[in-house]
Amino acid sequence: MLEIESLYREMGISFPVLQFGNKIEEALKERFEAIDCTAEYNQLKVIHAMQENRVNAECFNYVSGYGYDDYGRDTLEKVYASVFHTESALVRPQITCGTHALSLALAANLRPGEELLSAAGKPYDTLEEVIGIRPSNGSLAEYGVTYRQVDLLSDGSFDFDGIKSAIHEKTKIVTIQRSKGYQTRPSFSVGQIGEVIQFVKEIKPDVICMVDNCYGEFVETIEPSDVGADMVVGSLIKNPGGGLAPIGGYIAGREDLIENCGYRLTSPGLGREVGATLGVTQSFYQGLFLAPTVVASALKGAVLAANIYEKLGYKVVPNASESRHDIIQAVELGTPEGVISFCRGIQAAAPVDSYVSPEPWAMPGYDSDVIMAAGAFVQGSSIELSADGPIKPPYAVYFQGGLTWPHAKLGILMSLQYLVKEGLVTL
Ligand SMILES: *Cc1c(COP(=O)(O)O)cnc(C)c1O
Repeated sequence: MLEIESLYREMGISFPVLQFGNKIEEALKERFEAIDCTAEYNQLKVIHAMQENRVNAECFNYVSGYGYDDYGRDTLEKVYASVFHTESALVRPQITCGTHALSLALAANLRPGEELLSAAGKPYDTLEEVIGIRPSNGSLAEYGVTYRQVDLLSDGSFDFDGIKSAIHEKTKIVTIQRSKGYQTRPSFSVGQIGEVIQFVKEIKPDVICMVDNCYGEFVETIEPSDVGADMVVGSLIKNPGGGLAPIGGYIAGREDLIENCGYRLTSPGLGREVGATLGVTQSFYQGLFLAPTVVASALKGAVLAANIYEKLGYKVVPNASESRHDIIQAVELGTPEGVISFCRGIQAAAPVDSYVSPEPWAMPGYDSDVIMAAGAFVQGSSIELSADGPIKPPYAVYFQGGLTWPHAKLGILMSLQYLVKEGLVTL
């Protein structure tokens, strides 16, 4: 027996599961090469941005207190603006997560009486409370901001006619979510997002187009800001933090919009001038530097998972051969037991907390119990190998991340091992 086989076995992966996985992996060489090409391009893009902005050791200094003239922070924001080809960017540890970054971008740029339009149907669950779709203290609705949404067509594409008739004089921001989130619709390519933006701008040129870019960064060689988005928004404990950022979010876009975000994040009058970084900037830079190859590892994991589970007869979104626009892989396991076993397998493959067994629970911001598997160095980080699933039909699990390809592979094999062990799958 090969040494690697015996180590897999020692870690709980049986020979049939390994063999099944390896056979599928062998057929994916070309896909993996294409993923590596994208990573190569994006790696150059990030290094180029760091060079252009003359990143140096002073950028990593610890700054406390008010944080005036935090050179590392200000330079990092220029680097992000260069990577996203925008006028400006706000990249801060005070932005606590993706939901906060999105909420900030909206609240900073909407005023009472104005309207937000979602062109991509129902937004990510946590945004329902931000917007006030589900009544919530402090929602945009409480401040007199109205909301409309245009649902996607039954094939998952944009409803252009619907969008056209939903835009009127009060429409101030059109938001587009790139990734599927907790839905089983397809994620959008940057090209498709560009078409919608162009369409919206033809109807109402002064409308602000915002893209929820969570999970999409570095999956393609261009970003939504390259196709006309006025603001792109995301979390640093997803793709662009490269697994090293311990907290944070970013908003990249038009200077006037980003300036408003600064005033909303801190205070009117203070804006971006304050906000000490307390020594985290070095991990923000280094994480951004690693992000293109980390995203490539995660993508390879997603493609392997799609191919394994499709072969076993499950519905997977995206399917085994589709092109990828984010790092999320949905697998419809069809039963609560399937979702739970899958997640327990992912957990068992983790470097941290591998011995704990995840349970479904009522998480704030979600409308059903959710099970989450994450043995992460950064709590809740979903660029690290993780899986989660709401315990509601169609009992789909959403799998994402993997800082390294071998870990992503181990996680998927372990998920399969757990399904086999529970008698839910026979190979
Ligand atoms: C993760 C995610 C969010 C919210 O981010 P959190 O960091 O979990 O608050 C919003 N939109 C999409 C599409 C996401 O994937």
